[in-house]
Amino acid sequence: MSVNQQAHTGPPYGQPQPGYQGYQQPAYGGQPLPGVPQLQYGAYNGPMPGYQQPAPPQGYFPSLGFPSKGSPVSLNSDTSSLAPNFIGSLRAPSTSGASLPSDHLTYSPFGQGDVQNGIPASAAPMQRPPASQPYLPGSASMPVTQTPTFQQYGPPPTSVQQLSKHMAGMTVGIIAASAPPPAGLGYGAPRPPTMPGPPLPGQTAAGPPASQPNHVFSPPPPSSVSGPQPGPLMSGLHGPPPPTHPPQPGYQMQQNGSFGQVRGPQPNCGAAYPGPPNYGRQPGPPPPPKRLDPDSIPSPIQVIEDDRNNCGSEPFVTGVRGQVPPLVTTDFLVKDQGNASPRYIRCTSYNIPCTSDMAKQSQVPLAAVIKPLATLRPEETLPYLVDHGESGPVRCNRCKAYMCPFMQFIEGGRRFQCCFCSCVTEVPPHYFQHLDHTGKRVDFCDRPELSLGSYEFLATVDYCKNNKFPSPPAFIFMIDVSYNAVKSGLVRLICEELKSLLDYLPREGNMEESAIRVGFVTYNKVLHFYNVKSSLAQPQMMVVSDVADMFVPLLDGFLVNVNESRTVIASLLDQIPEMFADTRETETVFAPVIQAGLEALKAAECAGKLFIFHTSLPIAEAPGKLKNRDDKKLINTDKEKTLFQPQTSFYNNLAKDCVTQGCCVDLFLFPNQYLDVATLGVVTYQTGGSIYKYAYFQLETDQDRFLNDLRRDVQKEVGFDAVMRVRTSTGIRATDFFGAFYMSNTTDVEMAGLDCDKTITVEFKHDDKLSEDSGALLQCALLYTSCAGQRRLRIHNLSLNCCTQLADLYRNCETDTLINYLAKYAYRGVLSSPVKTVRDALINQCAQILACYRKNCASPSSAGQLILPECMKLLPVYLNCVLKSDVLQPGLEVTTDDRAYIRQLVTSMDVAETNVFFYPRLLPLTKADVDSDSLPAAIRNSEERLSKGDIYLLENGLNIFVWVGVNVQQGLIQNLFGVSSFSQISNGLSTLPVLENPFSKKVRSIIDMLQMQRSRYMKLIIVKQEDKLEMLFKHFLVEDKSLSGGASYVDFLCHMHKEIRQLLS
Ligand SMILES: [Zn+2]
Repeated sequence: MSVNQQAHTGPPYGQPQPGYQGYQQPAYGGQPLPGVPQLQYGAYNGPMPGYQQPAPPQGYFPSLGFPSKGSPVSLNSDTSSLAPNFIGSLRAPSTSGASLPSDHLTYSPFGQGDVQNGIPASAAPMQRPPASQPYLPGSASMPVTQTPTFQQYGPPPTSVQQLSKHMAGMTVGIIAASAPPPAGLGYGAPRPPTMPGPPLPGQTAAGPPASQPNHVFSPPPPSSVSGPQPGPLMSGLHGPPPPTHPPQPGYQMQQNGSFGQVRGPQPNCGAAYPGPPNYGRQPGPPPPPKRLDPDSIPSPIQVIEDDRNNCGSEPFVTGVRGQVPPLVTTDFLVKDQGNASPRYIRCTSYNIPCTSDMAKQSQVPLAAVIKPLATLRPEETLPYLVDHGESGPVRCNRCKAYMCPFMQFIEGGRRFQCCFCSCVTEVPPHYFQHLDHTGKRVDFCDRPELSLGSYEFLATVDYCKNNKFPSPPAFIFMIDVSYNAVKSGLVRLICEELKSLLDYLPREGNMEESAIRVGFVTYNKVLHFYNVKSSLAQPQMMVVSDVADMFVPLLDGFLVNVNESRTVIASLLDQIPEMFADTRETETVFAPVIQAGLEALKAAECAGKLFIFHTSLPIAEAPGKLKNRDDKKLINTDKEKTLFQPQTSFYNNLAKDCVTQGCCVDLFLFPNQYLDVATLGVVTYQTGGSIYKYAYFQLETDQDRFLNDLRRDVQKEVGFDAVMRVRTSTGIRATDFFGAFYMSNTTDVEMAGLDCDKTITVEFKHDDKLSEDSGALLQCALLYTSCAGQRRLRIHNLSLNCCTQLADLYRNCETDTLINYLAKYAYRGVLSSPVKTVRDALINQCAQILACYRKNCASPSSAGQLILPECMKLLPVYLNCVLKSDVLQPGLEVTTDDRAYIRQLVTSMDVAETNVFFYPRLLPLTKADVDSDSLPAAIRNSEERLSKGDIYLLENGLNIFVWVGVNVQQGLIQNLFGVSSFSQISNGLSTLPVLENPFSKKVRSIIDMLQMQRSRYMKLIIVKQEDKLEMLFKHFLVEDKSLSGGASYVDFLCHMHKEIRQLLS
């Protein structure tokens, strides 16, 4: 079937298009096409009949597993929701002589309860209902009326007892605008233990429901979820676990109508609750009087859940300019009606300030996170391939933007005006079409490039290197056969796996076999090339020991078709482990390995990917030789940045050569000690490759993870020799880029390879005024070579609104995307600046963002309040997670290689990945409904949310922890671990036994489901409460104070408030 079809003239787009023959990828979930044999493409189509799958969970991921980054299951949690606006009021002790502490956060809606984004539509002074006035405990002068919107959080306690209990629970946490900050609020300063105290009956129980017919708020009896469990108190877990479900008791009204209960010393409960874990480590003075209630500050769990409830059921239709999509944690369908799907592009704001002054004032970075080859959900339509024949895609004469739905046709359709630069261009005769009475071309709905946000053009030879259509790419497998690699069983494992995996190389459309050729190299101090030509009876090895000037000793027979050379390849893969079984060679080279692969691709005149399996620091004499320069003493010094920098520029130059050739390098590392990821990863990083690390690789515990990663990496959709350009309409332009790529000029992002998981974050700056009428446009054009060697252009368009009011900017922000940008910005910053400088800059920028909102968009009164924009109310908690991440504030156990590794990973992450990486998902497994497909409702990442009678799962995209409380019922332990008691669970367990009972099945299916949602196979770590490993787990409880000095969420919020007040004063 030819790919050179005429442009499609079928039914309207947006639906399955059986007639469209140019681009068939049933493997990716498209519709099977009539008359076209179903593509045999195991990778995305489920297990192939002929492929022997290992036992689960090693199986190939079916296509259904990948498309959605969000959870396909909505959490069934309580129905209570957040206040539509968050106005946390942080105040100082009352100076009025009140004896009660006055600090608390206030939640209150700004006007109408249904305002989506937190502020009224205009920037006029906010109208606040009396109820939003902050409550001053002890002050009788404050209004206590309540707007109806408040009432869903529970009516006020009505009895005197309840009221007095509330009062007893109040503690001072915050500061009035005019008062100096009390000591002890300082950010990062050690805090003596405080006593959050258990939820009081009056605090969690809703009052008389009569006045609130619509309000559904029925907390479970505290004891059923997280009350104190019988048994000995554990030192590590003795906070009064608040109810985990519903998780927001703090949003209830207080007796005065304000929100945000403040917990304080609870003398009655002191004995039962020795104190929250994070403040109770060192015995200290009596609790200070100030403590914000964690339940009263914005909860990521609640925000995620609200968005699921509000946006998860309807498809997101992209026809509206500047529309904010659902959160990445919401599972939703996208219908392309003229703008790119949020799976391809997400923005920090969908409403851009009209002027650069406004943008500077707000300090909100304008950035887009672009994932050009993102995997879609199976129900969604892949980008159509448009072929304009030899003349190629229609483009603007001046700025070269590609034809898109926003181009305006004029003069009866003979010319079009560019939506990016306004230049008028002749319509080529073959592309002419009449306009209808509205000025639209009559064929617009038949042409993807006139009606859709995303589509592809077939590129002509003009878009090809040296004006020559490319050859299909090649994969070269390069296996370290030094002593460690052989001894650990790794070499044998890789060879065994490749025998079957080679049948699952990416293939295109209706092709029966992959066009990708393969080659094999093994190496230690020298390189061994293999001739696997189909005519040979046995493979031939050629050794190159002069690694100083790498060359490829054979051309014919090195890169071969898998089917043609099947028996020779199989024989080679059988022989490699035997050949090196007795090796004593411990030293390796590294740069010459990449050079060899590069030379092989050059000789074959094709792009491709190197899969390098490497175990150690390359100390053998050769170009790119490295020394061990790890030095943890550099942490927190001005020289810390050197730990992230490569130790030689050799690899930067090599990377440049690789990009020129389209040689992408994927690196699988198996270190038993420092191997300098910061240097070894340079080529991978700059060529758009992926890096995987398996420290202390052990066959039994790590092979599943490695094999799953390898399979996915080999099979995933990838484009080669890619160049991305982002064009923008007049007034803004792309100024900065973050990701795994190489740039030789200021506009073109070059990637030797770009796969479906990689994102590029692009920052925009003003260079002129924008207009509210015309808005702003982005067009991302990716030129790449497909896995079959076809040159294509993938185009994504996105239209944004522009605003003259700051309130509109804040109302259309997306905090998850903002965090993605800020993290990448900071993670690049550590290469050149001291980490502390980077951290301070982050805090400062976010404080400015929030201060600008406070100053310009919120009520002028009560200057002491912390007022957060609705769309950014999670900015403080997420920012704190970035600040205390291992790159910016490493724990003691984190190695230099880990930090470099994480730095590289995050730089290519999409928004969903950064979201769960910085704020991990924590699920109470013991609350899972074994009869349904749903996940248990997530809870907040804090130790005080854990009950020792429960089992929890925590995942962050790299690891899955299963934490087992000491008081878990024996029956559950038996069902999940197959042993009769907690003490019999092995320490350091990394798998769950396959047991035939509903609980075991449910937990394993949850884990399998999470594994499929992530681009990497996560490492499973079973953690017993009070075991040594628990420290590792606690590191991910990101709302708590961290051992490495990271602030708790509550403390950080107070710190942010202080920063904001300083900016405002
Ligand atoms: Zn133009």
